[in-house]
Amino acid sequence: MDIAFAPNYVLPLPPGHRFPMLKYELLPEQLLHEGTATASDFFVPTPPPLADVLLTHEADYLHRLLHGQLTRPEERASGFPWSAAMAAREMTLLGGTIGCAQRVLAGGGVALNIAGGTHHAFANRPEGFCLLNDQAVAANWLLTHEPARVRQMLIIDLDVHQGNGTAAIFRHEPRVFTFSMHGARNFPGRKEVSDLDLALHDGLGDTEYLAQLADVLPRLLDGDLCRPDFVFYLSGVDVLATDKLGHLALSRAGCRRRDELVLTACHRRGLPVVICMGGGYSEKIADIVEAHANTYRVAASLWD
Ligand SMILES: [Zn+2]
Repeated sequence: MDIAFAPNYVLPLPPGHRFPMLKYELLPEQLLHEGTATASDFFVPTPPPLADVLLTHEADYLHRLLHGQLTRPEERASGFPWSAAMAAREMTLLGGTIGCAQRVLAGGGVALNIAGGTHHAFANRPEGFCLLNDQAVAANWLLTHEPARVRQMLIIDLDVHQGNGTAAIFRHEPRVFTFSMHGARNFPGRKEVSDLDLALHDGLGDTEYLAQLADVLPRLLDGDLCRPDFVFYLSGVDVLATDKLGHLALSRAGCRRRDELVLTACHRRGLPVVICMGGGYSEKIADIVEAHANTYRVAASLWD
């Protein structure tokens, strides 16, 4: 099991900022402490060459992001105050997801990025704590650098918010199938069109959520909708009932069962999987970390 983590994933934010940045510090500690991961599982990603980012993002936007020239509305939409460290972090987490993709392609199995899942980022603008779209950048990296080995990708986005940036980026790319299962009335207010969207009503609990997911997974994996040879999974834990932003009602066990359904289905088919964390905004940081840790525990148990 390969895990991407760099110290600059933990971005210092102004006091009282609503983003739970601490989870990126606590999760690796928890995984090491309990033995789900060992130090040798971790690798430290570095920013990719700009040319690889430009396969996905527009040059003008990328330049302005890297040089502190975002407009005020863009900065506000991003949810983070601009800093050189913030821009460097965004670039590094792209390297994390690309690095995970390279590793699963080389060795099969699963790799996880302790960050990323920045699915609200569009080719030319930021939104909702997302500035550069890591899974999109990694998918385009594979299309460009590994076209013979990766012919059809599937993005399974189970963060509670629609993967709108990802959907828009791959709207006209048949080799990347975008699937988003999200709160119908939740952010973003204006949804994009994924290859498949499952919009959920507020208050949905474990039973109905898991039934819908179990129903759709074979269609996504076995050729009815898509027949992928590579899977990205966005495992946001803002589906939890404890989440401040989610409006769904999954228990922690239900969230773990969600991960089991997705990862067991991929594992059984021998598919390489890259997992990125996505959102999680429960009141207690322990609820967030524990639910994210479950994704790693499930992956570790399958691909041990
Ligand atoms: Zn989210």
